[in-house]
Amino acid sequence: ATAVEIAEKTLAAIEVSQGKHNSFTHVARESALAAAAAVDAKRGSGEKLGPLAGVPVAVKDVLCTRDMPTTCSSNMLRNFEPPYDATVVQKLRDADAVIVGKTNMDEFAMGASTETSAFGVTRNPWDTDRTPGGSSGGAAACVAAGSVPLSLGTDTGGSIRQPAAFCGVTGLKPTYGRVSRFGLVAFASSLDQIGPIAWSAADCALMLETIAGFEPRDSTSLETPVASYTEALASTDLRGLKIGVLRNSIDTDGLDDSIRAAVNASTDAFKELGAEIVEVDLPHSNYWVPTYYVIAPSEASSNLSRYDGAHYGHRASDIDRNTKDGPLVEMYCRSRSEGFGAEVKRRIMVGTYALSEGYADEYYNKALKVRRLIKGDYDAAFTQCDLLLGPVTPTSAFKLGDKIDDPIQMYLCDLFTVGANLAGVPAISVPAGFDAGGLPIGLQLQAPVLQESRLLFAANAFQ
Ligand code: GLN
Repeated sequence: ATAVEIAEKTLAAIEVSQGKHNSFTHVARESALAAAAAVDAKRGSGEKLGPLAGVPVAVKDVLCTRDMPTTCSSNMLRNFEPPYDATVVQKLRDADAVIVGKTNMDEFAMGASTETSAFGVTRNPWDTDRTPGGSSGGAAACVAAGSVPLSLGTDTGGSIRQPAAFCGVTGLKPTYGRVSRFGLVAFASSLDQIGPIAWSAADCALMLETIAGFEPRDSTSLETPVASYTEALASTDLRGLKIGVLRNSIDTDGLDDSIRAAVNASTDAFKELGAEIVEVDLPHSNYWVPTYYVIAPSEASSNLSRYDGAHYGHRASDIDRNTKDGPLVEMYCRSRSEGFGAEVKRRIMVGTYALSEGYADEYYNKALKVRRLIKGDYDAAFTQCDLLLGPVTPTSAFKLGDKIDDPIQMYLCDLFTVGANLAGVPAISVPAGFDAGGLPIGLQLQAPVLQESRLLFAANAFQ
């Protein structure tokens, strides 16, 4: 088929799915067809094609795209069209991929259900009464629905892995710094990473190879050369690989029995593939969620101060010039009050408090110290094993509306995922069966810093 034919079919599939799942905030019909036509022309003229030539890709709406809106699913950026591409988007274009649109998400990537979006909820293709997870819910749902084979998500505390688990697809959060964050609208800069969501670990490997690498416009970007992730998939023989099972997280009360059973069964499957199984512990894992929910909102409150109505984004109209603090402060307040949704405001308030003078030592600085202990746990665990194995989520996909009015319940969705972000290590969610209701279950593997090849090798063998 030609790239244009594939793009046409993809756009038709998205149109059907969109009415049911609402995975996209923007479908880029014209620019997708133009990109596909350019690929066909290149092929026609015998030019060398990139590794993703003609492949339709969806991009989470937190990544800047110069020819499409970038809204972060927020009213604050509803009309924002960035004048430049994120590095990952540029790399996709250079690889001759066809970007078909921007996917729905929790507002500014804050959430675990895609219900905080200003563009309406996304529905899980496996059961449309349920959430696809979040914050990259749209990116996971459009891959699960079969509309596109690949999408880009972002993961600050689980936002690639949890929706991948809920939607029965594969999602990888790379090592912090492996993929350039240039052009990613910042949520919590020391935790954010961009990564692939796909039908398989092999497809994630191909996508990661395309988007990874050093980039001088991101000061935290790692200079280490990119490994050939696809080559790592040549063997499925896991002899010599030591997998550390996180027994404490598997035995925790908060975990659904069906997930416990699936994780235990996958441990047996790895044994059969030749891996050696040992039991390890990350002793400070009880502190992951509290530490994350101090650090992430703190960084968010700082990052989101740029939306003031003056530089860009939503600006309130009809400013009353006679208020106590004057028209400028009134404009800031009204623009931010109107532009941000409830969860974003909650994070800004928590973060501002945790960073404020007199409280920073008790909250933010203490959280940084605990983060060191958490990282130390990972370092110690990886002297005993090559990979860590455990659950991604405490439950399978929950019903829309179930947790949205209870922030603590929503935050507890991140129980098993935020550790990898706090420690900066790569982690993948791979499908590991179904619960009694037929909903997908994810298995999480985590690796030492920059060992994405090992992670993908084991995930591919398991699949
Ligand atoms: N659910 C987490 C949060 O709300 C993680 C979000 C993310 O990874 N972007 O902060």
